[in-house]
Amino acid sequence: MTRVAFYNSTAWRRLSRAFLMSKYYICERCGKPAEIAHHKTHLNPANINNPGIALNPAKLEALCLDCHNTEHFNAGGAISKGLAFTVEGDIRKEGIQ
Ligand SMILES: [Zn+2]
Ligand SMILES: [Zn+2]
Repeated sequence: MTRVAFYNSTAWRRLSRAFLMSKYYICERCGKPAEIAHHKTHLNPANINNPGIALNPAKLEALCLDCHNTEHFNAGGAISKGLAFTVEGDIRKEGIQ
């Protein structure tokens, strides 16, 4: 499965929505509104089909856009939020159906 296919899957959408709700949509790092269920173990072709990693709430972290960008790029704003979303493929709150 590709990352795009995974993030568009019903299983992921259900899980990420339930996970963010369980965190009250609050960023676990700074307390701002969380929009992203971030995989603490970054997904790659070797683990994306492993539900113990890809679909495990214990492996997720509720993050706001700023903290998510910091997590992935640590670049101090050089990369736009939209690009961060595209590169990572994480589902933002408004993108969940
Ligand atoms: Zn944050
Ligand atoms: Zn992420």
